[in-house]
Amino acid sequence: MSAPERQGIATRGFATHNKEAKFGPFEFVRREVGPHDVLIDIAYCGICHSDIHQARAEWAPMIPSMYPMVPGHEIVGRVSQVGSEVAKFKEGDFAGIGCFVDSCRECPPCKAGIEQYCIKGSAQTYNSTEMDRETPTYGGYSKHYVIDEKYALKVNAEGDLSGIAPLLCAGITTYSPLKKWGAGPGKKVAIAGLGGLGHMGVKIAAAMGAEVTVLSTSPSKEKDAQALGAHKFLVTKDAEAVKAATGSFDLILDTISAQHDYNFYLSLLGLEGVMVVVGVPTEPIPLNAFSLIGGNKALAGSLIGGIPETQEMLDFCAKHNITSDVEVIDPSRIEEAYDRTVKSDVRYRFVIDMQNA
Ligand code: NAP
Ligand code: ZN
Ligand code: ZN
Repeated sequence: MSAPERQGIATRGFATHNKEAKFGPFEFVRREVGPHDVLIDIAYCGICHSDIHQARAEWAPMIPSMYPMVPGHEIVGRVSQVGSEVAKFKEGDFAGIGCFVDSCRECPPCKAGIEQYCIKGSAQTYNSTEMDRETPTYGGYSKHYVIDEKYALKVNAEGDLSGIAPLLCAGITTYSPLKKWGAGPGKKVAIAGLGGLGHMGVKIAAAMGAEVTVLSTSPSKEKDAQALGAHKFLVTKDAEAVKAATGSFDLILDTISAQHDYNFYLSLLGLEGVMVVVGVPTEPIPLNAFSLIGGNKALAGSLIGGIPETQEMLDFCAKHNITSDVEVIDPSRIEEAYDRTVKSDVRYRFVIDMQNA
């Protein structure tokens, strides 16, 4: 099946056509390379749990799902064409694309480099439209992307490129709140959920110098947590361990994708502790006011990160030799990867190899 006729660069991706459909090849057209655009030949694209939520319409009606959908917002590849005015990239450079590809560029958040909070609404990498609010965007489960250089990231090519792809979402989504809320020496930081985001959170918080504990439902992940840099591992079903940890953390980063009890996790915070929610369960979660009032605690949220901070995160990860632990798959295995991710059976990010797709 193919998209409506449009002038531009013919390419190929993998799309789903409704919330129950399987992924299949999808021919479509990227816009021609404009003066400020770069054409990226995509090498790898990570599978974020947000792809699954949206492909399966789990966030509707809040965030409707538009089909055909080519998900993917953890993209790395090589620049194969640059527009006449492009300054940041040259042909052959490695580049990355994260969760958005454009924004209004004029509102206070855009001017401040936190374009993810664009007041007019940024153009998401997929399941969205370009800023004309008409042209659908298709994501990184595809061979090519055309993007304004301002919204593309420079990638250090010395690392393993497949392990760099997940930094574009999982990396920045954990780096930004960890930095904002002061993860560092002397701070006890807990990462709730050891999946794609969680394992990046552990690596980044440890590199920032914090004492890191993983809060997990999967006892089998304990060894991995240590190898990733965690100092402690707490199985949230272990009543004794939970009792001992109550009131002990300065910061909890909640990366959990499914329903869970915020009140329970808040009870693990110490006085004036902060819990930052980045995971997006599909149903609302009840909150008891006493969970916050008792210890003068705060519950916060955070959405990915802006372009300048995403570049800062990529440079931080390059400096600290941080990449994602990945299982590289062929596009024919997208459904299998989705099912395993939902079962928390991912060590720790599936990444699609688009080079021979
Ligand atoms: P993921 O790889 O599937 O990891 C989620 C982890 O949550 C699982 O590995 C599991 O860890 C834990 N978990 C699953 N079900 C649970 C349950 N019922 N109770 C407690 N813990 C449970 O997903 P991800 O890609 O890291 O994404 C995580 C969430 O963040 C998703 O909802 C995604 O949409 C959202 N997200 C938000 C942003 C943002 O900007 N805020 C950006 C990207 C993604 P254990 O096995 O250790 O328990
Ligand atoms: Zn994501
Ligand atoms: Zn804006």
